Amino acid sequence: MSAHPTITPRPGIMDIAPYVGGASTIDGANDVVKLSANENPFGPSPAAIDAYRAMADTLGEYPESHVDLSKALAALHGISADAIVLGAGSDELIAMLCKAYAGPGDEVLYSAHGFLMYKLSALAVGATPVTAPEVDLTLDPDALIGAMTERTRLVFVANPNNPTGTMVGRAVLERIADALPPQALLVLDSAYAEYLRPEEDDGALALAGTRDNVVTTRTFSKIYGLAALRLGWCFGPRHVADVLHRVRGPFNVTAPALIAGLAAVRDQDHVETSRITNEVWRDWLAREIGGVPGLSVLPSRANFLLVHAGDRVAALDAHLKSRGLIARRVDGYGLPEHLRISIGDPAACRRVAEAVAHFGTT
Ligand code: PMP
Repeated sequence: MSAHPTITPRPGIMDIAPYVGGASTIDGANDVVKLSANENPFGPSPAAIDAYRAMADTLGEYPESHVDLSKALAALHGISADAIVLGAGSDELIAMLCKAYAGPGDEVLYSAHGFLMYKLSALAVGATPVTAPEVDLTLDPDALIGAMTERTRLVFVANPNNPTGTMVGRAVLERIADALPPQALLVLDSAYAEYLRPEEDDGALALAGTRDNVVTTRTFSKIYGLAALRLGWCFGPRHVADVLHRVRGPFNVTAPALIAGLAAVRDQDHVETSRITNEVWRDWLAREIGGVPGLSVLPSRANFLLVHAGDRVAALDAHLKSRGLIARRVDGYGLPEHLRISIGDPAACRRVAEAVAHFGTT
């Protein structure tokens, strides 16, 4: 029985459609490639794997402090370590921000095809999710600013956004920050920031370092290849860090995550190689898919492509699956005609291109 007559959760919780992670298996198929969760096909730095293995002897101990990893991140990005808060993935930080700053009667604002966790985390605290329409599947600052009210407590902007892969520039983010009502905090979700070229930097860290109403979140799940460990971080004004430290669990980040994360941060060569390889193969695959009649691809700045297949989307998904390739339907994002395909390793990209070309002839 899923409902109880008298023991009921707070309003909003039963409105949540639980998040479903990207599939990783296909019944009866062996040679399967998972392209449904935007993971790094090369995994983490070998140094992070070694550090993780070395933890096996001390699993009986509670994790030590977050200081070493925060300091390493601060040194890498030229920011202040004591304004960093670590989380069990950036999902946890998104949830913590909602828990700390929003509740019943408050609005949590994001753009129409923004990352799903903003809605789920808002509902979990009884707040009202509000969306602003997009233009060309890209955040529209006028619409977002127009949707801000005296009840808006949080504004989430993923840049680049998942699942669209589109992004806005530094000037747009500044405009949004300038327009915030006094009670609202802007959260710049930079889960895919490491996939950007240096010249594409949207200035999120700089904004979070200089404004008292802007924070930014990052993750180790994407380019760092540590999704299994659940590790993310948040940087912003000290008053926000102070609040998050009060709502977070005392040991919210595991010891293996802290130690592997530290090794991963120290191996920027792995990050750089992953970024360049992703860019080359992403742009190659976008051209290949874009050349297939009936399919179009949105320009992506991240490690996935959003493919428009119209009323053939289910057929395309099935066709890829029949060849062992797992993509992601994005109906839950209001995009029933699109398929999101993560950029795998070169062999996987070739397989996708071949499969899609064959699909175009069917
Ligand atoms: N933000 C965005 C935009 C994402 O795509 C994701 C991962 N799907 C996350 C946050 C959460 O990632 P994690 O909790 O693994 O850090």
